[in-house]
Amino acid sequence: MRSEASRARHSSNIVLSQAALKKNIRFIRQRVGEHPVISSVVKANAYGHGIDTFVPMAEKAGIHHFSVASGHEAEEVLDACAPESRVMIMGILYDQDLPWVIDHGVEFYVYALSTLEKVIAVARERGKPARVHLEVETGCNRTGFSPDGFGKALTLLKRHGKQLEFAGLCTHMAGAESLSNNFRIQRQMERFEEFKKIVSKRKLKPERFHVGCSAAVLAYPEYSMDMVRVGTLQYGFWPGPDMRNLWEMNHRKTKKESPLARIMTWKTDVMDLKDVAKDEFIGYGTAYQAYQDMRIAVMPLGYSNGYPRGLSNKGQVLIRGRKAPIVGLINMNVFMVDVSHIPDCAIGDEVVLVGRQGKNSISVRSFSEFANQLNNEMISRLPTAIPRKVAR
Ligand SMILES: *Cc1c(COP(=O)(O)O)cnc(C)c1O
Repeated sequence: MRSEASRARHSSNIVLSQAALKKNIRFIRQRVGEHPVISSVVKANAYGHGIDTFVPMAEKAGIHHFSVASGHEAEEVLDACAPESRVMIMGILYDQDLPWVIDHGVEFYVYALSTLEKVIAVARERGKPARVHLEVETGCNRTGFSPDGFGKALTLLKRHGKQLEFAGLCTHMAGAESLSNNFRIQRQMERFEEFKKIVSKRKLKPERFHVGCSAAVLAYPEYSMDMVRVGTLQYGFWPGPDMRNLWEMNHRKTKKESPLARIMTWKTDVMDLKDVAKDEFIGYGTAYQAYQDMRIAVMPLGYSNGYPRGLSNKGQVLIRGRKAPIVGLINMNVFMVDVSHIPDCAIGDEVVLVGRQGKNSISVRSFSEFANQLNNEMISRLPTAIPRKVAR
């Protein structure tokens, strides 16, 4: 094993701002009020921010509940979080993982009767209750109990109170970030109310009702209930153009500054410089032809390092505070940018791929529009190998 100190340097790095996170959490808290628990959604390696770096940052910002999409991710959070923090699995959990999940007090969604029966058996065997959230189907049509199965699940819950703790009743909104979906969200909330009525008729009470995601915090704070599950927003991104527009329109007169701050800055440095004569092609094939004598800088990363290939000939990076446009295709592990207008550019210069440098800034949104990718898709694919560190 090589020691940490002798590890080879990676070709890019991600810096996370504690101050930005604090600002975003404060904004979310303002929106939902004092009562609801804010569950920090850290699936997909904390949306690319890095679970092991991000989780302690969130704890420092007052978060003690984390949501993930799988048993595998729950394990990563358990390794990173404080003993008092809670972890909740909203998605896939295999039967083979039930024993350790129950042993560690990890909460999890149940959306099928057959699972609930297995959970009861494992909880009995481990001598510890399982903390289950019953997910109900209200119109998203991915996972969730229909009213019929739900009734049976409640019967099991009543009968096996020693093995099952009713930690939550929940559902997921089907696209709350688009205002044109409003009618569908309203119908979902009506159906959720029906499920709540069934629960209270059976004289049961979950610890928490929860339905809200980032867009709900912005567009439907009245549905914050006992907990909101927030991903996108806590990282400082708007969950879609409608949500940003809604906020801007409501605050046009009173406030100028955005209530959100991007946590992530993604950086690399100039690998090499080269003069290219007019009419030469740059990189593979004929994707880019020099229209004049040019000076180009080579970047030491490519699509295998998480830089979207769709930015070929389209994206920009920041060098010495100025924008440098990408020329040619994004290769597997290099790409080139035009620095003809930045004459003092030198090998080793800092390059900002996402974030601010001097007066200029490159947003993830600018990527998405070019590459036709959602913010979340691009950041959640940032390789785990990129080192992450925290800045104030
Ligand atoms: C991903 C996810 C969330 C968080 O969504 P954001 O829009 O990023 O806040 C909430 N709930 C469930 C069930 C999810 O899968």
